[in-house]
Amino acid sequence: MQPEELYDLTIIGGGPAGMYAAFYAGMREMRVKIIEGREELGGFLHTYSEKMIWDVGGIPPIRCARLIEHLAEQAVTFMPTLVFGQRVETMERSADGVIVLGADTGALHYTRTVLIAVGRGVAELQKLELEGAERYELTNLHYTVSRVERFRDKRVLISGGGNSAVDWALELAEVAAHVTVVHRKDEFRAMERNVTIMRETLDVRTPCQIERLHGQGDHLYAVTLTDLASGAEALVEVDEVIVNHGYNSSFGALSAWGLELEDGLLRVDADAAASMPGVYGAGDCVVHPGKVRLIAGAFTDAALAVNSAKQYLEPDAHAMAYVSSHNELFRERNKSLTRR
Ligand SMILES: Cc1cc2nc3c(=O)[nH]c(=O)nc-3n(C[C@H](O)[C@H](O)[C@H](O)COP(=O)(O)OP(=O)(O)OC[C@H]3O[C@@H](n4cnc5c(N)ncnc54)[C@H](O)[C@@H]3O)c2cc1C
Repeated sequence: MQPEELYDLTIIGGGPAGMYAAFYAGMREMRVKIIEGREELGGFLHTYSEKMIWDVGGIPPIRCARLIEHLAEQAVTFMPTLVFGQRVETMERSADGVIVLGADTGALHYTRTVLIAVGRGVAELQKLELEGAERYELTNLHYTVSRVERFRDKRVLISGGGNSAVDWALELAEVAAHVTVVHRKDEFRAMERNVTIMRETLDVRTPCQIERLHGQGDHLYAVTLTDLASGAEALVEVDEVIVNHGYNSSFGALSAWGLELEDGLLRVDADAAASMPGVYGAGDCVVHPGKVRLIAGAFTDAALAVNSAKQYLEPDAHAMAYVSSHNELFRERNKSLTRR
């Protein structure tokens, strides 16, 4: 290992927790690296990038895609090293106390402390298990909605029974020509009020599932639905199909790192410390008595974890960073911002 390869803090995961931690650790003058399994920062937020977010403190309603941009911009303020497309699989401590993280690519990363911010793990979409379905993925079979306008004046069929499926059904109903919702159970796992509005205003078919896809070339033009109660089949013509069957997320090897888990999540104490010295957790992957499973909660966890890591490395360091209004690091930047 070359000296420049050793980081003060390595953050596994580039979601809201990891991004905010990178910024905050920069305020604490730590040398930081983020390792993200995907090719970009943003984490789970990419799965609802077109949705409006209302509940991040101080930020008026904002499209999630824009929020990702703001978070990513803030994350790189102190120029952390960014590593994309690597999934961390192993964590070991060498004899000199350095923690060595091994990625699925074979790359090794050396660090003095680790922040585990892996959310619900690397999430993989649950795809439609019908033969040939992948043929339509580049055209009109979707697993996420990235642009609402695409669905304007179209006949849209949504398959799914969770909050996202119901939210999309209601939002797309504002622009689409017709929205059909199919779900294999009678009950939806979504906010009751939204389910009631959806049932009253849209074409909702339960218990029902997509049985066959009908396409020409790589374009889907109809689906056969099966009513699971009666067995009856119906052919429905469609312009766009959205499948929202959730995610298979896995922590991968996290469970093999010898850390204390609770219900599959990383148990951390009031200082965000995991059960191994120098290892901390933040965001949706952790469990602690005050956990708030929101973006705002991820920020708080992240600041706490970074402060703990700083004090682990430098026991005499302040318990927390100087607030940004007093932090010398911003003096020059503030001047240029106020001039603007
Ligand atoms: C449908 C839906 C809507 C939501 N709406 C809101 C909302 O309106 N407001 C709100 O505050 N919250 C909302 N949330 C919750 C919010 O998305 C989460 O609280 C937030 O994403 C948690 O951030 P995180 O950084 O902990 O994890 P994530 O956002 O899950 O990020 C974790 C990152 O770690 C990466 N990763 C995982 N394992 C590894 C590994 N081994 N190696 C490298 N990288 C790895 C993943 O690829 C991912 O990028 C919503 C959640 C859902 C599901």
